[in-house]
Amino acid sequence: MAQQDDLFKKISSHCKEYGFIFQSSEIYDGLSATYDYGPNGVLLKNNIKKYWWTAMVQMHENIVGVDAAIFMHPTTWKASGHVDAFNDPMIDNKDSKKRYRADHLIEGYIEKIEKKINKEVTKAKKRFGDSFDEEQFKTTNPRVLANQEKINAINERFAKAMTDSDMDDMKAQIEELGIVCPVSGTKNWTDVRQFNLMFSTQLGAVSGESGKIYLRPETAQGIFVNFLNVQKTTRQKLPFGIAQIGKAFRNEIVARQFIFRMREFEQMEMQFFIKPGTQMEWYNYWKETRLKWHLALGHQQDELRYHDHEALAHYADAALDIEFKFPFGFKELEGIHSRTDFDLASHEKYSGKNLKYFDPETQESYVPYVLETSIGCDRMFLAVLSHAYTEEEVPNAKGGMDKRVVLKIHPAIAPIKVAVLPIVKNKPEMVEKARAIFNDLRFDFDCQYDEKDGIGRRYRRQDAIGTPYCITIDFDTLEDDTVTIRDRDTLAQERISISEISKVVAEKTSMRQLF
Ligand code: ATP
Repeated sequence: MAQQDDLFKKISSHCKEYGFIFQSSEIYDGLSATYDYGPNGVLLKNNIKKYWWTAMVQMHENIVGVDAAIFMHPTTWKASGHVDAFNDPMIDNKDSKKRYRADHLIEGYIEKIEKKINKEVTKAKKRFGDSFDEEQFKTTNPRVLANQEKINAINERFAKAMTDSDMDDMKAQIEELGIVCPVSGTKNWTDVRQFNLMFSTQLGAVSGESGKIYLRPETAQGIFVNFLNVQKTTRQKLPFGIAQIGKAFRNEIVARQFIFRMREFEQMEMQFFIKPGTQMEWYNYWKETRLKWHLALGHQQDELRYHDHEALAHYADAALDIEFKFPFGFKELEGIHSRTDFDLASHEKYSGKNLKYFDPETQESYVPYVLETSIGCDRMFLAVLSHAYTEEEVPNAKGGMDKRVVLKIHPAIAPIKVAVLPIVKNKPEMVEKARAIFNDLRFDFDCQYDEKDGIGRRYRRQDAIGTPYCITIDFDTLEDDTVTIRDRDTLAQERISISEISKVVAEKTSMRQLF
């Protein structure tokens, strides 16, 4: 665990040192849980968004995009249930004065029991060797079974308390489980209270309740209120989807995990409108399709897992998270929710407008059901970096070994695709040639020109920001118009002619590699 904490710290300081992420308003000591993306960060973030948009909109004839306003009519949030129910349960420890999410404390307790189960499994695996059957062990070993039963009982009670908004029972559960504050080590808890996560502000000069509007806590509602506008103008037939990328705001109770949980963040959401009754079919389709999207980036199967929701949100009839193995454990990266007709039906009721779809096949009008895929762009950024960050030793030119930090980001989304490096800077013909190559490549790629320091140090700098290819211009280049292209991961160097560079880099860094 200490090692993992260490990795998380290394990633966040690497982000700062190499211009990926800065704390917001840092010169004023920062603003908690808000961050700014630096020069390399914005490139990587834009590429993640492009990958999502290409996969969802460009590659699906029946998915189109919108870009709705952040401010929406306040009734939107009444209809969506956010005014009444977008709450998190909070609790304070009276000794440490630290605030927690009550549900997170209980989840943390469950994780500890899960770890005990995993320990038993690892021990047994060692003991039984090749003949070990994990499934059989988990369903028959008395200690594992007892722990699993404990987890099920906690989950069931916790889910009920969440659904019924029973804060007293949540506190009772925390006390009965003997959960202590990680800082003070005591069980001196306040009551659990519901806390609404929406930020509000005033519209124009109108003050008081009548001018109160919200900063959207999710992008989804901008899609729902535009459902018929989009359907009619694009003449889409069910099933079809509307996708959107944009900012969302939540006044999170606890936000201590870098860009994992921010108060201002970006979501990439797609609402897929379907015929009622077909939701499970589409739920399974999107569950698989979205996992494939993650795996295509080179993320491993064991870094990702599904987690079915125990307590369903007020709008859902099925829901799961795709969790990623962050340095601080498996946590939600993306949500797949079957939202039924909750949102459209509710907007129909509150707006008094007909939001039904006329089905030309059945000649019926009905409110469509909705399948949602929702992923945080910033969390995805953190997942990409957690996977990519690597410390390793590589051979140097003198026959020894060098330590390097390299970001093994998939070339298609790497911030800088190619760096152009003249081997020496005091030879004008070489610099001129290198500049000419750079000036040509920059039309098609995000690239960098670097002539400062020895070539080894320049490679290290490019490794640290994840540049997949470096082009080196040397003395041979001046003779035969060839250069070397170095692969970030294999370190292999190949000689190619200047006229080929653009084509080679385009092929190696194309988004096509991801599909
Ligand atoms: P959590 O349980 O972690 O609070 P959530 O279930 O409330 O998340 P959703 O409402 O399903 O999250 O939002 C969809 C996605 O938006 C999440 O999967 C996550 O990637 C992202 N997201 C949600 N809240 C935040 C946040 N505060 N900071 C960054 N990303 C977020």
